[in-house]
Amino acid sequence: MAEEKRQFQAEVGKLLDIVVHSLYSNKEIFLRELISNASDACDRLRYAAITQPDLLAGESDFQIRLIPDAAAGTLTIIDNGIGLNHDDLINNLGTIAKSGTAEFLSRMTGDDKKDVNLIGQFGVGFYSAFMVAEEVTVVSRKAGETTGWRWVSDGKGEFTVAEAPDAARGAAITLKLREAEKEFVEAFRLKSIVKRYSDHIAIPVKLKEGDTEEAINSASALWTRPKSEITPEQYKEFYHHVAHAFDEPWSTLHYKAEGAIEYTGLLYIPGSKPFDIFHPDRKQHLKLYVRRVFITEDCEELLPPYLRFVRGVVDSQDLPLNVSREMLQHNPVLAKIRTGLVKKVLGELKKKSEDADGNFATFWEAFGAVLKEGIYEDFERREDILELCRFRTTAGDGLVTLAEYVARMKEGQEAIYTITGDDIDQLKRSPQLEGFVAKGVEVLLLTDPIDEFWVTAVPKYQEKEFRSVAAAGADLGKVKAPEGADAAKAEEAPADEITTLIAAMKLALGDKVKDVRSSERLTSSAVCLVADAGDMSMHLEKLLRAHRQVEGEKIRILEINPRHALVRNLAAKVTAGGTSALVEDMAALLLDQARILEGEHPADPVAFAQRLSGIMEKGLLG
Ligand code: ADP
Repeated sequence: MAEEKRQFQAEVGKLLDIVVHSLYSNKEIFLRELISNASDACDRLRYAAITQPDLLAGESDFQIRLIPDAAAGTLTIIDNGIGLNHDDLINNLGTIAKSGTAEFLSRMTGDDKKDVNLIGQFGVGFYSAFMVAEEVTVVSRKAGETTGWRWVSDGKGEFTVAEAPDAARGAAITLKLREAEKEFVEAFRLKSIVKRYSDHIAIPVKLKEGDTEEAINSASALWTRPKSEITPEQYKEFYHHVAHAFDEPWSTLHYKAEGAIEYTGLLYIPGSKPFDIFHPDRKQHLKLYVRRVFITEDCEELLPPYLRFVRGVVDSQDLPLNVSREMLQHNPVLAKIRTGLVKKVLGELKKKSEDADGNFATFWEAFGAVLKEGIYEDFERREDILELCRFRTTAGDGLVTLAEYVARMKEGQEAIYTITGDDIDQLKRSPQLEGFVAKGVEVLLLTDPIDEFWVTAVPKYQEKEFRSVAAAGADLGKVKAPEGADAAKAEEAPADEITTLIAAMKLALGDKVKDVRSSERLTSSAVCLVADAGDMSMHLEKLLRAHRQVEGEKIRILEINPRHALVRNLAAKVTAGGTSALVEDMAALLLDQARILEGEHPADPVAFAQRLSGIMEKGLLG
C-alpha cells in the first residue's frame, strides 16, 4: 500500500499549535507522557493475553527502552505492548477522541498564559513529543497482527501512514530533536527525568548506554511498596500518571484492606475540577488491577457515580485473574470492595472537613455538586453525606453546615428554608426572601441543578423538613419577629380594600394566574410569583424546560404586598370605583414585573412595552 497523507482533526491542529508555540517551561515532561503511554500499552496487552495467550507470541517480558542517538540527534522510545495498526494510528494519533474535548479546546483564548493553564489540566499526551521534536515517527505492529505501519509527522497539520514490513510488536517512537533540545540524548538527563517522573512505572524502563541497557527505574508498582518508602513527590507523579492530571492532588489515600476481602487502594481526590466531571455518562475512573495485572478502568461497579471524582488504583487479591467484563457485573467481591471504598472516601472527607487546615472548601467548590448526587442516590449514606454538605446562605458569605443552620434557627421556625436558582447574587436579591430577611430567618441559597432533586427527596434533617421559600406554604407568621421590627413595618392597606383589589385583579388576569393573594413575605417589592404547595418549583420547571422535559408553562400564584405604596394606592382607587381599564393595565404590568423578577420574560413583550409606555406617558403629563 502506498503512503497515505492525512490531515489532523481541527482540534489536534489547534492543540499542536499551542504545544509548539506557547508551551510549558519544562519540556522534559514529554518523556513522562510517552513512557506513560508505553506502560499503558503493555498493561493492555498483558490483560488481553490472559484470554488470548497467543498474542504474546513467546515474548512476555514487558519493557520500555530508551535509545538515544547523539550522532543522529534522535531519541527513540520503544515498548513491546499492544501496538497500533493502520486504523489505530489514524484514529488515536490524528484525532482527540475524548468526550468534551472539542468544547474544551474551543475555550482556548489564544492568550498563552491562560491556555497553558487549561492545557495543564487537560494534558497533551502523545502530542507533547512535538515540544522537543521537529519530526515524530511511530513504527508499530499490533499484537496478533502481521503487518506493521509507519506514521510520520512534523506536527504542522498533516501526517503520513505507510506499511513498515519489519516492525516489531509494540511501538517505537522516534523523535528527531530540535536543534535547541539536543540535551535529551544525554544519559544523565534521561536518567534524572525518569527517576523524577516515571520511577513508579511497574515495568522496567531501560536506557541504552554504549553496549549496555539497564533499568533506570524501580520497576515495582508504587501501591505495592510500603508507605514509608514512598515520597510525596512519587505519590504526586503517580497521580499524574493514573489520572492523566497535572494538578496537585487534594488528598492521597494509600491503604491495605485486610480481613474478609483483601485489596490495596491508592486513591486520590484531585485538587481541581476535571473539565468533563459533568459529562452525562457519570463514569467512575478508578483503575482495577488483580494481583498487579491491569484489568480495566471502566468498571462501573467499583464506585458509585457520586464519587466519580476519585482517581487511582484498586488492586484486588480475591478476584480471579481471568475476570471478564460480564463477571464484574453483580460480583459479590466487587460489591464488598465498593462498600469499603465508599466508607474510606467518605471517612477521609469527614476527617478533612473537621480539620481546620483540611482546606475542605477547596474540595467543596470543586466537587460538592457531584457529592450531593449521593444524597438521593445512596440512601444508606445519606446522613453522612448531608453532614459533609456546605451551603451558602442569606446569613453571610461563608459556607455553612446543616448542623450550624439548625443550631441557629429562630424561635418558632419549623423548617430549613431553601431557595433555588441559577446564581447566588440573583438569589440574594429575590423578593421571595424579603420577609425571611426581615425576620432574620436564614435561607439556604441553592444554585446547583442537583439541588432541585435532593431537596424534594430528603424528608428531614435533624427532624427539620426542607421547605422552599418559593412554595406558597412557607409560613412566616409563626416566627417571632426581632425586637422593633414590627414598629418599622409600613402601614398596610385596609383589609376590605385589599379584598376588592384582589377580586379585580383576578378578574383582569383570568387564567394567567392560579390565584392572587396578599403576601406575608414581601417587604420592599410590590409583587412576586410563588409556586403552589405541591407544584414543581419555578426553577426546576425552568431547568426542565431548557432540556425540553416539560412543555408550556405552569401557572403560578401572584402575591401582592399590602404594605407597598403602589398596592395601597391602587387598592384605594379600585375601591373608589370606575377604574377597570387602569386595573387591567396595572394587573398585567404587575404580573410581568413578577415574571421579570423570576428571570423570565414578560408573557407578551409587545403588550408589556405598550402598557409601560402608556403609563410612563401619563406620568409625564402629570
Ligand atoms: P491518552 O493517552 O490520554 O489517551 P494520547 O494522545 O497520549 O492520549 O494517546 C492517544 C492514544 O494513542 C492512546 O489512548 C492509545 O490508544 C494510543 N497510544 C499512544 N501511545 C501508544 C503506544 N505506545 N502503544 C499503543 N498505543 C498507544
